[in-house]
Amino acid sequence: MSLRSICVFCGASPGANPVYREAAIALGRCLAERNIRLIYGGSAVGLMGIVADAALAAGGEVIGIIPQSLEEAEIGHKGLTRLEVVDGMHARKARMAELSDAFIALPGGLGTLEELFEVWTWGQLGYHSKPLGLLEVNGFYAKLNDFLDHLVVERFVRDHHRAMLQINESPSELLAALGNWQPAVEPKWVDRKPS
Ligand code: AMP
Repeated sequence: MSLRSICVFCGASPGANPVYREAAIALGRCLAERNIRLIYGGSAVGLMGIVADAALAAGGEVIGIIPQSLEEAEIGHKGLTRLEVVDGMHARKARMAELSDAFIALPGGLGTLEELFEVWTWGQLGYHSKPLGLLEVNGFYAKLNDFLDHLVVERFVRDHHRAMLQINESPSELLAALGNWQPAVEPKWVDRKPS
């Protein structure tokens, strides 16, 4: 699958450890070097601003999508290729998804998790067949990964839906995995066996 535009979800904060900033820079640069357009939430703050700045500095194209109500709080980035101001959060997520061929989450907070899980559930339901991945940094997502495995063991999530989420610490390896990903054909599984 050729990936021309990738949506990155990440913290509006920089996090406690400089490794998060370094990972955002590495990913932004890696996207630009491969001529992959970065689609993101349009903010100039936190890891969001850092990934955008890194892609722009490496000559990449960056499109930000920000809700009107947040443009001040999150500070809309003024130096992007294009900043789209939309009506609200739902419009933001729909537009980011529409423009993107794949999704990557860097470390972040509740917003990042919400965005990642929403596109994942859309994929599980067959609303799209776009790959998604986690850029793991210093074990940041290790506990979440353990919990996701637990969901499979407890038969709330099927193996191949769990496997939709590619996980890698290297931006270039993650991009390669997303490019090679093949969507599963089976629809969402609901366990109807009596307990
Ligand atoms: P956070 O990971 O909490 O730092 O948030 C990262 C980004 O996600 C910020 O731009 C938030 O505005 C955004 N965000 C938070 N909640 C939502 C939501 N429900 N839908 C879309 N974006 C959100």
